[in-house]
Amino acid sequence: MKKQILLMLFIALSLQSIFSAQPNIIIILADDLGYGDLGCYGHPSIKTPNLDRMAAEGMRFTDFYATAEVCTPSRAALLTGRYPIRSGMCHDKYRVLRRTSIGGLSKDEITIAKALKQHGYATCMVGKWHLGNYENVPEYHPLNYGFDYYFGLPHSNDMNPTKKAPKAATRRLDQDPQWWAAPLYRNREKIECPANQSTLTRRYTDEAIKFIKQNKGKPFFIYFAHTFPHVPLFSSKKDSLRGLYGDVVEELDWSVGQILQTLRDNKLDKNTFVFFTSDNGPWLTHGLAGGSAGLLKDGKGSTYEGGMREPGIAWFPGKIKPGIVTHELACNMDLFNTCLTLAGAKIPDDRIIDGVDMSPTLFGNGKSKRESFIYYRGTKLYGARFGQYKAHYITQPSYGTNAPVSHNPPLLYELGQDPSENFDVADKHPEIIAKINEIVEQHKKTVQPVKNQLEETIQENKQ
Ligand code: MG
Repeated sequence: MKKQILLMLFIALSLQSIFSAQPNIIIILADDLGYGDLGCYGHPSIKTPNLDRMAAEGMRFTDFYATAEVCTPSRAALLTGRYPIRSGMCHDKYRVLRRTSIGGLSKDEITIAKALKQHGYATCMVGKWHLGNYENVPEYHPLNYGFDYYFGLPHSNDMNPTKKAPKAATRRLDQDPQWWAAPLYRNREKIECPANQSTLTRRYTDEAIKFIKQNKGKPFFIYFAHTFPHVPLFSSKKDSLRGLYGDVVEELDWSVGQILQTLRDNKLDKNTFVFFTSDNGPWLTHGLAGGSAGLLKDGKGSTYEGGMREPGIAWFPGKIKPGIVTHELACNMDLFNTCLTLAGAKIPDDRIIDGVDMSPTLFGNGKSKRESFIYYRGTKLYGARFGQYKAHYITQPSYGTNAPVSHNPPLLYELGQDPSENFDVADKHPEIIAKINEIVEQHKKTVQPVKNQLEETIQENKQ
């Protein structure tokens, strides 16, 4: 016991001395990138040397989750450290905020940016917001959520189709810029519409690099939320073996390389924590325009692993040991606690925070504080994971008209042995099911009804 206390004291003191200064923090979020879309996650023909290097110099997670199966709730969870059911940022029918929506992330929520700004950070968001259409309701602008600077689109790049767009235009590999009219903003000013999407990844990267250089004398936080590989696909690069989808992902990889090189060139690499992940799984219904979840089942929209388990790569030279592959359980809500802890900010105690600090895994190569994870589809609890076991109470294919199917007892998969969720072992482990049931019941007791933010639209309001 005494030994354990001394060890904990030693770890705490070591962490304190390592992080005496506030590190810079960069979260890079891809949109709809699948678990199997990167070289370091096994893709055979998409080349991602920069992300592979990032993983080789840092830590690669095998069991990192987005907290939702689609964009809006996942992003709400990442920035607030809370299951989206708590902020009303999920919906069973609409699933994400629409272009016409008049709801958004409540001002009462505390975002990573807001917390870090209060602790002296310069804060920047580049890319897709999708937490409230500020063109409809200006108060939902990222600058009102703790960001000092913003450059990006209000929502997904398929949400402003023009009359020229053919049927199923998002699936097409012969994209025509005239089919889309996405608005591009710098702070509160619309600077381009339609946005030239072919150069978007490059311009996002330029903006992030500019912010790094301008703020290198003080701690900064960048939330870099790429527009791609969400459809429609556009890229300024055209030589991937995987075609247009590969070009888009390879350009994202190029972008990550540019960011990390900028940090090295400016001698910021030893004092910057960078995390790369995706908001949800690949959009499989889009054929060659969608990505791959590798050997995981299903994709975007689903609570099977392919919908929510994502690449997760952490980089912090000198702090995170190189070349570590961790199987510890973690999710994008944990970035909230981790970022606040790194910045020396207090975790809010006036509300439920579902994230946990990943520092023991990242910096001590130790056990994750996260023991369980709940899988929601919209507002409904579909499954839960405890250790390597995952119970499905409800299953439903990602998209289409197939109705949900309830399971009692739940389906049970051992994800270590069976990552593709093919072999139900519920019969063999009633004690695990009892434990997961208990976790779910405890969780449900903490969920309070809140106003749903995805329901109302401009049109409905006018009726
Ligand atoms: Mg997405």
